Amino acid sequence: MKSSVITKVVENDLCIGCGLCVALCPHGVLSMRWNHYGEYNPVEVTPCTMECGLCLGVCPFTNPEENEDTIGRELYGGVSGIHHRSETGYYLASYVGYSENYRLTSASGGMATWILEALLSENVIDRVVCVIPTGDSKRLFDFQIFDTQDGVCTGAGSAYYPVEMSRVIRQILEVPGRYAITGLPCFLKAIRLAQKQNKKLRERVVITVGLTCGQLKSRHFTDYIASLAGVKEEVMAVCCRGKSSDHPASNFHYTFITADCREQRIFWEEGIAEAWTNRWFTLNACNYCDDVFAECADVTCMDAWLPDYSRDSRGTSLVLVRSPKVQSVIERGEGVCLDHISVDQVVKSQGGVLTVKWEHLAYRLNLYCKKGKKIPKKRVEPKSEGNPILRREVFLKEKMRTESREVWSNNAIDAERLQEIMRPYLWQLTAGRQISKIITFSIRILQYIQGKIRGEYHG
Ligand SMILES: Cc1cc2nc3c(=O)[nH]c(=O)nc-3n(C[C@H](O)[C@H](O)[C@H](O)COP(=O)(O)OP(=O)(O)OC[C@H]3O[C@@H](n4cnc5c(N)ncnc54)[C@H](O)[C@@H]3O)c2cc1C
Repeated sequence: MKSSVITKVVENDLCIGCGLCVALCPHGVLSMRWNHYGEYNPVEVTPCTMECGLCLGVCPFTNPEENEDTIGRELYGGVSGIHHRSETGYYLASYVGYSENYRLTSASGGMATWILEALLSENVIDRVVCVIPTGDSKRLFDFQIFDTQDGVCTGAGSAYYPVEMSRVIRQILEVPGRYAITGLPCFLKAIRLAQKQNKKLRERVVITVGLTCGQLKSRHFTDYIASLAGVKEEVMAVCCRGKSSDHPASNFHYTFITADCREQRIFWEEGIAEAWTNRWFTLNACNYCDDVFAECADVTCMDAWLPDYSRDSRGTSLVLVRSPKVQSVIERGEGVCLDHISVDQVVKSQGGVLTVKWEHLAYRLNLYCKKGKKIPKKRVEPKSEGNPILRREVFLKEKMRTESREVWSNNAIDAERLQEIMRPYLWQLTAGRQISKIITFSIRILQYIQGKIRGEYHG
């Protein structure tokens, strides 16, 4: 059988839709398309006869020789003063704070936009590649290249929506210059793999700005949230991270703008959280991800999901820097309010994501191995799980992920109907958590009683 990104990746449902294989295919036989599930995949537009293997070499989910550890070590292992932790990869320093100018229009504290803008104004780069709203209902967000501060600002915010890089990577290959690019961990890993194969990309992509990532959602996730918000008209634009002064940063809202120019809002706690945290519409490739902090990025930005910051409705960023060039821009920073923060706190802020990407992944891999599924080599080893409640949680979330994906794409259903289908799984999940709490509480009581008895005995 032919060995290509189609047979090895797409057909095994391991594609994240980054588009690097399409951009680098030397024969131009690939193109990015939406699949049935509202995810981007490459397709062969003319038959591939060469089988050069480049498409597989740049795929972030198949390359068995390279992982975030090997790539990170090569990029940052020799940097003076660098540290390393298994959860975060390499880092020089970590900060907490915000940009005075971009905070309110950005996802968190606006640090990603500030860094991109500062890199441009300090002439470290010539162009920024980031993600902006398109105004096109069939593709609400896309990567775009900018060489001005105003352009970069239009990208502020998070796109919890599929975007692919094939077009912008081709543009970078055509137009010389120094580029900075934003991306999710797996997208930036793909760029690093591509840089090993392609000299122009190596020379031209000089800064990578990573976003910490829990999971990528399909286009259908946005359709679901729109339906949940009661949107009936065609959606022309969506802001995924609206802030309002009467809600904490953690309860942000989606705003949908429809073809009839109406705006409709829905808050995180009004149903977005339920679908997000239970992995509805999450891509299958995310099931194999063990990179939380975009370990191949020169700098990674994320939300300060810590009690001291998440209550502030304006949003706060955490920044983990790996490149000395970016660190010196940050240290000179004007218009930012930044403090150092311990990397322990940075790790703590992503505790839930780390559990899913390390602990749950080990058990998922174990399950897939038992089923004889082809699985990519990960840094986490497959491991059986002793805790029956955790086993059940992984099972139920996977059930919800696959079922939401199938049901939404096969039937013209609405949010209410999907919630009905999911209710038994949610109920079981809640019951499991309650049982777990009761067990933990009982163990604590027993330990307390045992301690008392021992104390009395010794006393
Ligand atoms: C799918 C997804 C999942 C995430 N999961 C987590 C998480 O679990 N925990 C956490 O702390 N943070 C997560 N983030 C990151 C978080 O949402 C913010 O993007 C991050 O904190 C940066 O905020 P900021 O205010 O510093 O950036 P901003 O100033 O808002 O700038 C963000 C920059 O990133 C670009 N961008 C936005 N979306 C994308 C995208 N999809 N691909 C590439 N570039 C993009 C924008 O164009 C902009 O240049 C996630 C982001 C995404 C897109």
